[in-house]
Amino acid sequence: MSSDYDVIIIGAGAAGLMCAATAGYRGRKVLVIDHANKPGKKILMSGGGRCNFTNLNSTPANFLSDNPHYCISALKRYTPQDFLELVERHGVEHEEKAAGQLFCKDSAKDILNVLLTECEWAGAEIRLKTSVSGVQGIDTGYKLATSAGSLTCESLVIASGGLSIPTMGATGFGYDIARQFGLTLLPTRAGLVPFTLHPELKEQLAPLSGVSCPVDVSCRDQHFREPMLVTHRGLSGPSMLQISSYWHPGDELTVDLLPANRIHEDLLSLRKNKPQSTVGHYLGQHLPKRFAQAYNDMHGWTGPLQGYKNSDLEQVAEALGQWHIKPAGTEGYRTAEVTLGGVDTRQLSSKTMAVLERPNLYFIGEVVDVTGHLGGHNFQWAWASGVAAGNVA
Ligand code: FAD
Repeated sequence: MSSDYDVIIIGAGAAGLMCAATAGYRGRKVLVIDHANKPGKKILMSGGGRCNFTNLNSTPANFLSDNPHYCISALKRYTPQDFLELVERHGVEHEEKAAGQLFCKDSAKDILNVLLTECEWAGAEIRLKTSVSGVQGIDTGYKLATSAGSLTCESLVIASGGLSIPTMGATGFGYDIARQFGLTLLPTRAGLVPFTLHPELKEQLAPLSGVSCPVDVSCRDQHFREPMLVTHRGLSGPSMLQISSYWHPGDELTVDLLPANRIHEDLLSLRKNKPQSTVGHYLGQHLPKRFAQAYNDMHGWTGPLQGYKNSDLEQVAEALGQWHIKPAGTEGYRTAEVTLGGVDTRQLSSKTMAVLERPNLYFIGEVVDVTGHLGGHNFQWAWASGVAAGNVA
């Protein structure tokens, strides 16, 4: 008995749509199922509504995984340049913001339209508002119990994403299916997520809500030199989002507030040349005024520099160059851009994303244990893993 479809893909997000178009162009009869009322909701909200759709400088070093070599093959075979060519073929206007980060000039809708058009041209069908209550392995492939009835397919691709932003339709569905078929899951946690602070520091920083300054933040041998943003809940901005993917509860962050300066030497020379100058004055020259004032007040630095001993200046330099912060936690999946962990990639083919011990079952995108840095890398993984599976499923 032949199957209803050659390929069923669960999840009409970035990875699922890319996979659907790729498989469809190979002549496969493809169905994409999603329980949401719209496809690609995360694409639409990404990059502040303008979708940072890839990063021209993406390398495997931009990804976190318990099995770091796994992502290399797929990323090599479908590159940022490949996706850029697709986007340009569809006439989408784009711009490079920070180095290598490509955004739509107009709207993230443009990227979703590229994918939906590709799916249409490739003959892939998309069924929304359809939930899947069960998946069963059968002789010819898989049988799905869905809210639209029973469906069979030869190949099943799980592209249901991670746990971040449950209000956008995120569920643990992919992990449940992985468990059902005996796969190991690595613990999941929120990544690219703002930090929350303990009450005392939160109160001290509250007046700075909205202030951003370039810092270098480090934790667990990783560091990022990018802006930090103080929010009414805690700390955010690119540097904090990046380091959050490496942070574990209880870890301390070390923040260099003046990464471009040699703080101790600056202060020594200021004391020598302008003895009446103050730490507050020095800070005001290098940090946003509100931040400088609040940080100065937090430490009670008063009086002219001539009154500071060498050891005092060393302490000031340390407080500025190595501000130790122990976050209370993170905002969690509610606001996280990604989910770390997931399906252990040691059980998947790095060329095809297929489960090694189970024929014709594939896991792609965020559901697997590959997570990119901020800056377009996560979509690049979605495209590359989607194409890898779409070429064989
Ligand atoms: P998703 O895009 O999450 O798609 C999964 C799909 O599966 C969804 O449509 C969901 O409805 C569906 N689904 C889930 N459970 C079920 C179920 N039980 N049954 C049926 N369907 C189901 N990355 C970048 O590279 N650049 C950015 O600019 C960027 N900005 C972001 C901004 C925000 C606010 C967020 C939250 C993320 C951002 N990301 C960005 C990360 C990026 O969106 C994800 O890495 C990417 O969407 C993952 O693609 P995916 O296809 O694996 O999963």
